[in-house]
Amino acid sequence: MNEVGFDRIARWCRRVARSLEDPPEPDAWADSVSPRKDPPEDGSPRDAWRRLLELAEVYPDDPGEEPLWRMAEVLFDLCRWYLGRPVTEVSGIGPARAETLERLDVRTLRDLVLHLPRTYSDRRFFTPIRELTPDGESTVRGRILEVTVRRGRRPRLVVRLGDDTGVLRVNFWNQLYLGDQLERDDTLMCTGRVEEYRNRPQMNNPDFERVEEGGETGGIQAVYPGTEGLSQKRLRRWIRRALEGTRPLWLDCLPAAVRRNQGLPGRRAMLETLHEPESPQQLETARRRLVFEEFFWYQLVFLGHRWRVRRRETGRAYPSRTRTERFLEDLPFALTADQLAALEEIEEGLAESAPMNRLLQGDVGTGKTVVAAASILRVVENGYQAVFMAPTEILAEQHFHTLYEHFRDRPVAVELLVGGLSAEERRSRREALARGEVDVVVGTHALLTEEVEFRELGYVVIDEQHRFGVEQRRTLRRKGPDTDLLIVSATPIPRSLARGLYADLSVTTLRTYPVGPRDVHTELLEDTRAHREDVYDRLDGLPEGGRAFLVFPAVRDGEEGIEGALDAFRRARESGRFEPRGIGVLHGGMDREETRRTVDAFRSGEIQVLFCTTVVEIGIDVPEASHLVVHDAERFGLAQLHQLRGRIGRSGQEAWMFLMADPDVSEEARERLQVLTRTDDGLAVARADLEHRGMGDPAGRRQAGEDPFRRGDPWRDRAIMKAARQEAAEQLQATAGLTTPDARLMRRKLVHDYGERRLYAGVD
Ligand code: ADP
Ligand code: MG
Repeated sequence: MNEVGFDRIARWCRRVARSLEDPPEPDAWADSVSPRKDPPEDGSPRDAWRRLLELAEVYPDDPGEEPLWRMAEVLFDLCRWYLGRPVTEVSGIGPARAETLERLDVRTLRDLVLHLPRTYSDRRFFTPIRELTPDGESTVRGRILEVTVRRGRRPRLVVRLGDDTGVLRVNFWNQLYLGDQLERDDTLMCTGRVEEYRNRPQMNNPDFERVEEGGETGGIQAVYPGTEGLSQKRLRRWIRRALEGTRPLWLDCLPAAVRRNQGLPGRRAMLETLHEPESPQQLETARRRLVFEEFFWYQLVFLGHRWRVRRRETGRAYPSRTRTERFLEDLPFALTADQLAALEEIEEGLAESAPMNRLLQGDVGTGKTVVAAASILRVVENGYQAVFMAPTEILAEQHFHTLYEHFRDRPVAVELLVGGLSAEERRSRREALARGEVDVVVGTHALLTEEVEFRELGYVVIDEQHRFGVEQRRTLRRKGPDTDLLIVSATPIPRSLARGLYADLSVTTLRTYPVGPRDVHTELLEDTRAHREDVYDRLDGLPEGGRAFLVFPAVRDGEEGIEGALDAFRRARESGRFEPRGIGVLHGGMDREETRRTVDAFRSGEIQVLFCTTVVEIGIDVPEASHLVVHDAERFGLAQLHQLRGRIGRSGQEAWMFLMADPDVSEEARERLQVLTRTDDGLAVARADLEHRGMGDPAGRRQAGEDPFRRGDPWRDRAIMKAARQEAAEQLQATAGLTTPDARLMRRKLVHDYGERRLYAGVD
């Protein structure tokens, strides 16, 4: 620590930070400062200090404008290093207390200052004691009338607190030591939950503060996530000390112009406000900055990647499109206006010189496959190979047949490559692919793990993207570094949200249904014996040639009364429940031959009632299917249920989905399922699903679960997301993709915070 000389750094920091408040025009000095190529990852103080001294020698008195950014960068490293020091640097925190803090994931000075309040209690408003009610939190202010010590099994200090309107009893359990601090006639402010005890209000272990003679504190008080054995008060004190001690170290990497445009406070001001807000308005702007900043860096990562990709300009142009045109003419139906527009967008993307990165989204049944197929032709016609990937073998096979039919009379060689094939078959198909004798290969993600080689891969289409891991997408693109990519998804995300989120993706949306509006009724039922009989009776009334799905959460019966598709099927076969209709069973554990036979029998109508797991979730396209029963519906995700619903009513006929839920299911789960009964709009469903599940980490590897944002919520704060995106784009423009000297701080920050993630952001 000595060799770094914290005081000196702090002085430098203050100086540089002052200049940064109003940074100079970069043009004036940009030429003379060349960006350092590869900044060391660790920013070790010795190295940084040396660099700083070098600079200081050249510019001993006044650093001037020229090396400002270079110094800022060095300082950034130093500050970062120092902020990474353990919390024991704060006076009052020893090893034992550091251990307590560790339970809050607080280990360093940075952690401590960024241990932000969980909520705030507004103490500027006191509740008169007479008006206290036992709900929620209140703050009272009164004079201490009496302090009594009660020893015994559960020792406590009892304080009687009085104001003009009444008397409140305050218990401090296990805090006898407070007896030394609280005295009669002191003025005390207590914030806490009010409870009723023998018809009188009382508070237990409230958050309290002694009001000094004449010194009204109060105000809005931070309430921190806490842990046992650590009082709010103490935590607050430590945080304040840490913040005071490190104040100059919180360099602001957000460009001043962005701050000005958005009316955001500086970083230090933000931190101070977050911990000790003076007014709700001030708090609001500080929080806005917190959220904005989070989105801003995130967008910069994504957009920055795109910026670089665009500059590479290594995409293919695919000039001719006669086959696509002929294909459209020969289709048994005309594409809808929506489909045509989507195809046009995709083709434009393909023809651009930069590789395409596009999301084609549309609700189930909007006809995405045929659009994707037409775009594949464009690529193949121009001499490149294409991959069509599906998440399941059933779906891959179905796509294979669809494409095979579509391309039948055309000189396009389509092959299927799935795990179920014999080793010999797979080998010969792979070889044909490598020799370029196959134009389009359809398969599952097994395509990734296998040693698949292409002669010249141009285009990758991934169907039902939500089921693919980012990692997999990335692996695939590595097989052809500058391939065009189309991700097809039926889990719609609001376009603006998708654009904000997947900043590196262009988005094409299909909104209309070729076969007209769907007519699916959805009912939520408690799975009682009576209801189940009712629903099964409805199946008895299936029209001639009608089909129904019975979906189960598992293959086998399981714990907690879970029914399995296979066992339920066996029981039905024994009891002859659906006779004379044919019944069958389909699940992921069946071999390829069995699966195919079952799907064919269901298609032909030999099987009318199909017991199944979610293997049918996507892909099974049987126009006659009109009924779907989901058992233990609460075990499924909303998006998944909506997908399942897409399996019925596909020819525009009236259709029914029955969601059978465990009668003991929680109110929350019931409400979640209710969403489906209210709307058939995939967007609304997806939104509700997002709210219930979180949205995954588009910049990282996670696809569901908690989103990457700790502070902001992409949906609630979408306006901020939009602003952040715009500012990020402008910054990239202004700094030529963060290559100018004034972008150094931003780059530095990104390398530190997103180093690893940056790899995933582009999915290539
Ligand atoms: P999804 O968007 O769910 O993948 P599909 O591509 O499976 O939808 O299309 C659903 C059905 O609609 C398919 O049977 C397809 O052949 C048919 N279809 C697609 N486009 C049209 C159209 N323009 N006119 C009539 N039928 C269409
Ligand atoms: Mg589809």
